[in-house]
Amino acid sequence: MTQSYSSPLRVLISGASIAGLTLAYWLKRHRFNVTVVELAQGPRMGGSPIDVRGQALDVAEWMGILPQIQAAQIGTDGMTFVNASGEPVAQMDPNQFDEKVGEDVELRRDVLVNLLYDVTKENVEFLFQNTIQTLTQDAQGVDVTFADGQARRFDLIIGADGLHSAVRRLTFGEEARFVHHLGLYVALLEVDGEVSGQKNRVTFYRSPAGRTAGLSRYPDQDYAMFIFRAPRLSYDYHSVEEKKQLLIDAFADEAGWEVPNLLSAVKAAHDLYFDEVSQVRMPTWSQGRVALLGDAAHCAAFLSGMGSTLAMVGASVLADELASSRGDYQHAFAQYEKILRPIVEPTQARVPEAATMFVFSEE
Ligand SMILES: Cc1cc2nc3c(=O)[nH]c(=O)nc-3n(C[C@H](O)[C@H](O)[C@H](O)COP(=O)(O)OP(=O)(O)OC[C@H]3O[C@@H](n4cnc5c(N)ncnc54)[C@H](O)[C@@H]3O)c2cc1C
Repeated sequence: MTQSYSSPLRVLISGASIAGLTLAYWLKRHRFNVTVVELAQGPRMGGSPIDVRGQALDVAEWMGILPQIQAAQIGTDGMTFVNASGEPVAQMDPNQFDEKVGEDVELRRDVLVNLLYDVTKENVEFLFQNTIQTLTQDAQGVDVTFADGQARRFDLIIGADGLHSAVRRLTFGEEARFVHHLGLYVALLEVDGEVSGQKNRVTFYRSPAGRTAGLSRYPDQDYAMFIFRAPRLSYDYHSVEEKKQLLIDAFADEAGWEVPNLLSAVKAAHDLYFDEVSQVRMPTWSQGRVALLGDAAHCAAFLSGMGSTLAMVGASVLADELASSRGDYQHAFAQYEKILRPIVEPTQARVPEAATMFVFSEE
């Protein structure tokens, strides 16, 4: 379907994180009329440091933020696996886990989100603390109602709203059809105060009961990580208290290494990243005037280390295709998928093996 190109297409992006902000930036550069709706009060902060790799560094360079990304680089010089008494049992250096030392950049997720927001915010409309409630497509556009009661019409909708995408649910159906749980949950939080474990190193304790706790110590920040095996759990994705309780319950009888101290930090935390380790696999990423981007389309799972890279590269490809298709959004969506799937699918295929390295099978 080709649309008259006389006035800029009005694009609504759901999600102001790495995928959504990168897409908003590029669409604005291509002179689209861009609105971003985000559940949080501002761009969604939180999480531990993430990697920006390969082609995503090119995207950052074209956006003019590569120097800032490189300046914000933090890193560790490897991992130590310890036993319940804290004694080292194995070591790994960064070369052993797919990382291109000297090329890939690891930085705080918050810093990357802020950099993306700073170069995007002018001339893009942001609707914070809001979400899409209904979407109705017809031949000429999409009618949207928002949680705050507004009703508006757009030409295209892009769901960049993560693993539990509302746009995917409203357009393609219940998430259980597309979200494949890998049997693990992960939680991450910044910890203050005295912690053990070597500075500039990630320390992991893998309990024989299929639970892992870790501590990543960067020069100025420390992050705790928990991974545990569980079938899909039912909880409110937006309730920090519910997530904290699930985590505390999962590790309640675990006394090894630093686990009790790290659980105290969980109890005191105001926010944490907690989610299922899952992959999104879909036969197609678009339907009519709606397309999905980033984790919403193809989450490779937290353990891939590629979520942000795929989000930034996908956003840049999608924007280029929409700009060059001159209104033929169906052609643009098909091209975007054709270019991105060969990068996404091998990444997803590597994840189950990575999971076995981090967590022992349950006894
Ligand atoms: C708070 C947080 C912390 C994270 N921490 C880590 C980490 O430490 N390590 C790691 O590897 N990955 C982490 N991730 C995931 C990582 O950001 C993504 O895998 C990757 O960057 C791809 O980004 P994305 O933009 O596709 O999705 P996400 O980063 O998940 O962003 C989705 C965005 O959509 C918003 N949103 C969700 N639902 C709605 C809705 N209904 N309406 C409007 N907006 C909505 C969210 O608030 C968020 O801003 C984290 C994600 C979040 C949200």
